[in-house]
Amino acid sequence: MIENVVIIGGGPAGLAASIYNARAGLNPLVIAGSPPGGQLILTTEVENYPGFESIMGPELILKMRKHAEKFGVRFIDENVVKVDFSKKPFAVGTIHKLSLQSKSVIIATGAKALWLNLPSETRLRGKGVSACATCDGFFFKEKTVAVIGGGDTAMEEALTLTKFAKKVYIIHRRAEFRASKIMQDRVLNNPKIEVIFNSEVEEIVGGKKVEGIKIKILDPRSQILEKNNEIKHLSSDIYHLTLDGVFIAIGHKPDTDIFKNHIKLDKKGYILVKDYMTSVPGVFAAGDCVDHKYRQAATAVGMGVAAALEVERFLEKL
Ligand SMILES: Cc1cc2nc3c(=O)[nH]c(=O)nc-3n(C[C@H](O)[C@H](O)[C@H](O)COP(=O)(O)OP(=O)(O)OC[C@H]3O[C@@H](n4cnc5c(N)ncnc54)[C@H](O)[C@@H]3O)c2cc1C
Repeated sequence: MIENVVIIGGGPAGLAASIYNARAGLNPLVIAGSPPGGQLILTTEVENYPGFESIMGPELILKMRKHAEKFGVRFIDENVVKVDFSKKPFAVGTIHKLSLQSKSVIIATGAKALWLNLPSETRLRGKGVSACATCDGFFFKEKTVAVIGGGDTAMEEALTLTKFAKKVYIIHRRAEFRASKIMQDRVLNNPKIEVIFNSEVEEIVGGKKVEGIKIKILDPRSQILEKNNEIKHLSSDIYHLTLDGVFIAIGHKPDTDIFKNHIKLDKKGYILVKDYMTSVPGVFAAGDCVDHKYRQAATAVGMGVAAALEVERFLEKL
């Protein structure tokens, strides 16, 4: 059987695309990944998805999946392990279904936030530890937070957080930022932001929620002043910083490794598209695997819808 459209990825972008393609009579097949659901599965409360004042991330994605199933979308909850876009129909393979064939493909494999991989960070995720200031900054009104990182993402996260928090620390391992000069200037001139260079997070402290972080000073010449009871010297090079939230901003990695020899990617691995079409006509892409800038459920949905409409136009022309 040759499919009309195979959608790779079962997050917001892939599910939105599947609903549109199903209602257009294309009988789409979603290879949703393992585990399916995408980043919303890792999210606690979502307060910025239109139509839902407050909903837990896993519940929101489950509703999207049920919506798609209601219109007859078929699902395989496996990972795609290989593709061949060099001939038509395109070939897409999972471990158990080696050669699915399709006239068109939408890639919606998303991205993963990079974490520090501390046990305390995993335990406190959604309890004050986040990787998205746009998503979660609102929960930290008049609180004290820290951003971990030194690139443009960290600068953006810190500046976003200044709209909510009363104080934003940036903890960075090196003596200077990697971020662009313009972003650095904005950060360094913001009175709400204080930077602690040459330091790394040893542990995120807290029981039911974040209470602070332990940081290690990497360069003995660095000095940290103890003030307002917010910073306490624990031992020779270890300090405790009292906080309500920690935003990890050390980067994102798009899930696009399996496509790298088949379509054009940028140097960070994001898929390059024009009108949601990749460098191979008939192969489209949407959501966080394309978008390193906005990274929201609602924007991923919008891109998924646009890619689905482009698929319909493409198939009509065939
Ligand atoms: C901690 C956190 C909090 C967030 N909070 C919010 C919020 O409050 N509001 C908001 O709007 N956004 C929030 N976001 C961002 C939002 O979750 C993402 O922007 C959105 O999920 C992106 O959707 P997507 O479909 O592009 O990708 P993803 O959600 O990443 O989904 C990708 C899908 O592709 C699958 N996949 C990957 N590789 C393969 C493969 N080889 N084969 C098959 N399938 C594959 C995955 O399993 C997954 O199902 C948050 C993100 C994080 C990490």
